[in-house]
Amino acid sequence: MKAVQYRTIGAAPEVVTVPTPEPGPGQVLLKVTAAGVCHSDIAVMSMPAERLGFPLPLTLGHEGVGTVAALGAGVDGLSEGEAVAVYGPWGCGRCLTCAQGKENYCLRAAELGIRPPGLGAPGAMAEYLLVDDPRHLVPLGGLDPVRAVPLTDAGLTPYHAIKRSLGKLLPGSTAVVIGTGGLGHVAIQLLRAMTAARIVALDVTEEKLALARSVGAHEAVLSDARAAATVRELTGGVGAQVVLDFVGAPPTTAAAGAMAAVEADVTIVGIGGGTLPVGFGSLPYEVSVASPYWGTRDELIEVLDLARAGALDVHVETYGIDDAPLAYERLHAGLVNGRAVILP
Ligand code: NAD
Ligand code: ZN
Ligand code: ZN
Repeated sequence: MKAVQYRTIGAAPEVVTVPTPEPGPGQVLLKVTAAGVCHSDIAVMSMPAERLGFPLPLTLGHEGVGTVAALGAGVDGLSEGEAVAVYGPWGCGRCLTCAQGKENYCLRAAELGIRPPGLGAPGAMAEYLLVDDPRHLVPLGGLDPVRAVPLTDAGLTPYHAIKRSLGKLLPGSTAVVIGTGGLGHVAIQLLRAMTAARIVALDVTEEKLALARSVGAHEAVLSDARAAATVRELTGGVGAQVVLDFVGAPPTTAAAGAMAAVEADVTIVGIGGGTLPVGFGSLPYEVSVASPYWGTRDELIEVLDLARAGALDVHVETYGIDDAPLAYERLHAGLVNGRAVILP
């Protein structure tokens, strides 16, 4: 089968032919319908070898949807041809946090060598994907697979970030979304569907700001050195109750802190190397700062339910598998509006 692989440290991904996997006991083989392209893949492909933590080659793709192609021995409850989305942050399934559905924070994944597909295990950017356990699969239930595939990360990750702050997103509050790309443009829609907050979106190009407005941002402003001051002006000097930073680079984490209200939540989702020091006097009183990772199993079910209710309009650009390297180039250059999706 064809697969998109990251093969050499620092090199671009390549389309190669690899053996089609067969499901072992307890596993499920999916025929991949669509796989999403995430900026985290670019971060992975920029890491020096010693930070990578797993061997190459790596078949990319940690957002996947497909249809059940074959069941390993002992698997039941799924039928061939059924359309499913893949919950990506696999855990052991048995520890306390896994039992709570939080496999993204599995206590034993590192020790057991469990890695998400596309981030250590072979991923969804291939004709077939081997899934270790049927519990990682959520029925699509009629959703368009191409527009649903980003929900497994670009939907689930902001959903998890927003859920932690729901108590602060009251009527009259302001939520800022920094970076309105794959994750950010879904975050705006999630905020609209789940809260009454006023949404201020920040990005660096007019195209991205236009997308932000079209998916529901009340205000969309350029993310420049004045951004924090602009958010203060827009909030009568108070600042934002919730700031979601989908860039996480030094200028955006600094701006996120500078635009926070007293008792705000600042959530740094982007992995751009920025930090935000917490200490008396460095931020407004009682600001909490968190850097969450992905989302929980139950939250993926909730995000897909929200999509089925018609609340989410994910913008996608589609590419054939041979054009996957081009999709990464365009994402790197900031040219993708919404999410790039590969159709293997
Ligand atoms: P993306 O490239 O689709 O979107 C990033 C957006 O940020 C783009 O629209 C870009 O124009 C904008 N941007 C760049 N610099 C900016 C600045 N200074 N101010 C405002 N906007 C700016 O990326 P994505 O796939 O949506 O991922 C976003 C980030 O989240 C990445 O860092 C990715 O690695 C990370 N991520 C983290 C998790 C997690 O679990 N924590 C999960 C998925 C992705
Ligand atoms: Zn991702
Ligand atoms: Zn676990």
